[in-house]
Amino acid sequence: MTTIASNLQAVRASITATARACNRADDDITLLAVSKNFPSDAIRTAYHGGQANFAENYLQEALDKMAALHDLPLHWHFIGPIQSNKTRAIAENFSWVHSVDRYKVAERLSQQRPADLPPLQICLQVNISGEVSKSGVAAAEAAELAIRIAALPNLKLRGLMTVPAPSDDVMQQRAAFADLRALKDSINSAGLHLDTLSMGMSHDYPAAIAEGATMVRIGTAIFGMRNYA
Ligand SMILES: *Cc1c(COP(=O)(O)O)cnc(C)c1O
Repeated sequence: MTTIASNLQAVRASITATARACNRADDDITLLAVSKNFPSDAIRTAYHGGQANFAENYLQEALDKMAALHDLPLHWHFIGPIQSNKTRAIAENFSWVHSVDRYKVAERLSQQRPADLPPLQICLQVNISGEVSKSGVAAAEAAELAIRIAALPNLKLRGLMTVPAPSDDVMQQRAAFADLRALKDSINSAGLHLDTLSMGMSHDYPAAIAEGATMVRIGTAIFGMRNYA
């Protein structure tokens, strides 16, 4: 077995064990393989290891890989910062976008989503730890933004995404994820029907699952360390 295939197996086993330990069904949790900085061959290997959902941060890199992998039935998730002039290509090529944090970007994605594709699945990125200079809408502004975006055609607002301030302390990790879950519940009590919490990365996904994550975004634990050189 390849390293990627055995890493995938280990991550899946860990997701299952964590879900059981908190009385959750493991099929409530979707694993996204975050493939940024890894070549299309690595994605192909992961696909043969049973992985169909992939997440990318950089548009051009993602488009190049999609072209190289067009023979495979993959589901693509965009999780990086979104510049307004990139929305068309994102609307045309992805199934999900997890990193929407402005109305203007959502409006463009809705206008530019091709009519022959299903609605683009959207998560609002929330700056849950309130860090300065971090992407994401402030928690206090999330409900209003969610209500406006939910009214746009060609999009389906599914839920919230976050990247909390990094911490090695499991209780701190859980507190941030619990805040995102509480925010989703409060938005739903205002009348929306969000069903997705996109939270948890290689170093903190067990804490995210314990707090209700329905999508975990895992790169390093599947593909190994990224080389930014
Ligand atoms: C890179 C990235 C991940 C994956 O991080 P790992 O620590 O490699 O698992 C998840 N989410 C976002 C938004 C990312 O940019």
